[in-house]
Amino acid sequence: MKAVTWQGRGAVSVEEVPDPRIEAPTDAVVRVTSTAICGSDLHLYELLGAYMDPGDVLGHEPIGIVEEVGPEVTTLAPGDRVVIPFQISCGGCYMCSAGLPTQCETTQAREYGSGAALFGYSKLYGQVPGAQAELLRVPYADATHVKVPHGPADDRFLFLSDVLPTAWQAVEYAAVPEGGSVTVLGLGPIGDMACRIALHRGLRVIGVDRVPERLARVAARGAEVIDLTTAQQPVGDMVRELTDGRGTDAVIDAVGMEAHGSPVAALAQRSAGFLPDGLARKVFDNAGVDRMAALHSAIDIVRRGGTLSVVGVYGGMMDPLPMRILFDKQIQVRMGQANVTHWVPQILPLLGDDDPLGVDTFATHRLPLAAAPDAYRMFQHKSDGAVKVVLDPAA
Ligand code: NAD
Ligand code: ZN
Ligand code: ZN
Repeated sequence: MKAVTWQGRGAVSVEEVPDPRIEAPTDAVVRVTSTAICGSDLHLYELLGAYMDPGDVLGHEPIGIVEEVGPEVTTLAPGDRVVIPFQISCGGCYMCSAGLPTQCETTQAREYGSGAALFGYSKLYGQVPGAQAELLRVPYADATHVKVPHGPADDRFLFLSDVLPTAWQAVEYAAVPEGGSVTVLGLGPIGDMACRIALHRGLRVIGVDRVPERLARVAARGAEVIDLTTAQQPVGDMVRELTDGRGTDAVIDAVGMEAHGSPVAALAQRSAGFLPDGLARKVFDNAGVDRMAALHSAIDIVRRGGTLSVVGVYGGMMDPLPMRILFDKQIQVRMGQANVTHWVPQILPLLGDDDPLGVDTFATHRLPLAAAPDAYRMFQHKSDGAVKVVLDPAA
């Protein structure tokens, strides 16, 4: 089959790889009909090369049709239409039962102290081949799927794999009081959808980014926006001017570590955990603030006693945080990978024909899987108006 493979920093290629097969009795194999590119893929593309091997299959946002199931799979049959969550969870352990499938104790990638295994996320998360491919092997298939009806186009349900539950969790964790306000830093797919969900809940939303098309998309749905490219003062000051000098009740950091970090940041990232403590610390002290610009600005923007919801991914092993400011401002911080299957029942009612979140038109590009190298470049550079790019393995 054809699959998108990582080949080195900033390089992916579409290669012929062996078809996945049922390996464990709890596996299923799914024929992928649509598979999206995520900001998290850009971290692997740009920064996390130390954890990748050339040939690793990328991707974790698929929808498709079940092709085959192992003998112990009881809730799926060939022909079922499924969205596959980005995380693999057993459904039965303590963490899965607690609504935290991202912390599944059965699949967790202990080698790097990581939580549940993730599709297409290399050695860091269990080395499971990804979903930007014609076929996907799904371990623990009974718990690792969302069954959806046949009929509507793929995009209606595709974003249940990641964007929708991730943005939903970000807004939940932001814990904004009724009628309150939230600043969303970063208006890629995750921040954009977080704005839509917060607006749908009647909250005041301020969206911040530097990409004109991304600012325009959330402005059109009712958010106030701040364009970093024309800002004359720190964004925290601008938000305070809009909020009686206080800052918003919550801030969602939907940026994460900077994909376009400086060379020092990239070196720090690559050397995480390998350098002697003192030296590593030095590199991080120089690189941390640079790579964590969004997080530091979030800490500045949030009002005293407010909540910081970190949904952007940070990969540093020893990133410095301004503890005095966090403590003094009495900021509540919540974060983590999104617990996909936990939130899906709350989101599904919003995926009807009235489409209040605009999922049917959320993707800006649909390209053949073979175009993945261009698609990655375009999404990374935010060119051609790319916000969400979907690949079609059958095209
Ligand atoms: P993206 O790269 O398209 O979006 C990031 C946006 O942030 C870009 O539009 C960029 O212009 C903007 N930006 C950069 N620096 C900024 C700054 N200092 N202030 C404001 N905006 C800034 O990616 P995405 O797909 O939207 O993902 C966003 C983040 O969410 C990534 O870190 C991704 O890894 C993470 N993510 C987390 C989860 C989870 O489960 N927690 C799931 C999916 C994605
Ligand atoms: Zn994703
Ligand atoms: Zn589990």
